[in-house]
Amino acid sequence: MIFKTCELERKKRVRNPSLPVEQRRRSFDLVEEGFPEKEAVSEASRCLATLSCQSCDICTLLCPDLCITRSDVTGQVEIDYDYCKGCGICAAVCPKKAIEMVQE
Ligand code: SF4
Ligand code: SF4
Repeated sequence: MIFKTCELERKKRVRNPSLPVEQRRRSFDLVEEGFPEKEAVSEASRCLATLSCQSCDICTLLCPDLCITRSDVTGQVEIDYDYCKGCGICAAVCPKKAIEMVQE
């Protein structure tokens, strides 16, 4: 087994298409048109509330082999694979599903 822990990728914000100010002032047209599907999916994937570590440290507390620690440098959880026995507890208890077990 290997693990995929959360790695946040920096992505640019997509602006919601909207009417220019001059046009807004002279009409009752919809101001924000909403994202096209592709941009909507891209924006949703930037959400930090899902699939990202929220630093609750439940995984570090419940790992039976004490092989999950938080890095002083990056602040992210790190797994010492030399000691991990692949029990899957960390992935099961993570409330944000930030740890995923993947078949090698
Ligand atoms: S249990 Fe999940 S959210 Fe909590 S510290 Fe571990 S990886 Fe992060
Ligand atoms: S799979 Fe088990 S032993 Fe390995 S890091 Fe997760 S809780 Fe610890």
